[in-house]
Amino acid sequence: AKQGGERRYCVFEPSMTEHLNNQLGIETDLRLALARDELELHYQPKVSSGTLSLLGAEALLRWRHPVHGMISPARFIPLAEETGLILAIGRWVLRKACTDLLAWRELGLDLPSVSVNVSARQFSDSTFVPTVRQVLEQTGIEPHRLDLEITESVMTGDVERAVQILLQLKDMGVTLSMDDFGTGYSSLNYIKTFPIDTLKIDQTFVRDVTGSPKDAAIAATIITLAMNLNFSVVAEGVETAEQADFLRSRGCDVFQGYWISRPLPGEAFADFVRKSPP
Ligand code: C2E
Ligand code: CA
Ligand code: CA
Ligand code: CA
Repeated sequence: AKQGGERRYCVFEPSMTEHLNNQLGIETDLRLALARDELELHYQPKVSSGTLSLLGAEALLRWRHPVHGMISPARFIPLAEETGLILAIGRWVLRKACTDLLAWRELGLDLPSVSVNVSARQFSDSTFVPTVRQVLEQTGIEPHRLDLEITESVMTGDVERAVQILLQLKDMGVTLSMDDFGTGYSSLNYIKTFPIDTLKIDQTFVRDVTGSPKDAAIAATIITLAMNLNFSVVAEGVETAEQADFLRSRGCDVFQGYWISRPLPGEAFADFVRKSPP
């Protein structure tokens, strides 16, 4: 009777306990994920809007959890940032993306550039710039083949310092993309100050670009802005030919999205590269 009572007792407060256990479990698991080799990078092509030739790929992190299966970065990146695990994970991503680029080259597959996402926590850490330099030196990839995608959130702290870091990265020769452009605030002030190469139009503006006159106006304005400032402009989340037609007609250089390809595991991505128009 006692056993059953205990068991029943747990049922009275499930949601909170479950939630807590789940959080704790995931956090512990995330600590071990690197050592257990559970993280992987998938790659999503970026193509020229005119010829659809391959210009690069964005590395997107995946966690293959032994029990929960594939976990989206939207779920575990925030946790990795809170716990500081993003520093070790971020270093792993950077190194892995660069070594994958080299491995493809050895297979005769020339990927012009690989993009890596950098979170605000990573960016503001004093080890970030040295880590990028070290990975470039150790892998020997040409710096202009590494593109770093940063969001406006890196500028919420010390703007002077952020600019200094960006200048150090530019000096190394890597390229810089402003991710999720248009979703933050003071965007215009930032792009005036920041030595970036590329604006990525956030997919929230691309999604309804053919249905919503407002989204169309915003996307077109970002494209014009980028052209006038001599930035390259990437549309992310391009899912249909209609979206692609509109964006191309307004002068967008680069497409990324399901219309071209979903993010692909390494092997499948290599196949995509093989079949790409020159
Ligand atoms: P993000 O950098 O804005 O990446 C774009 C997201 O849009 C990716 O989600 C991608 O799979 C998805 N996507 C691409 N094309 C389409 C499309 O046509 N339609 C739709 N609906 N979605 C599309 P994912 O892979 O789940 O990544 C989510 C976020 O997690 C990323 O957003 C990025 O902020 C973060 N993330 C991913 N990998 C890393 C990483 O290695 N480091 C850091 N710090 N963050 C990462
Ligand atoms: Ca990105
Ligand atoms: Ca984005
Ligand atoms: Ca995003």
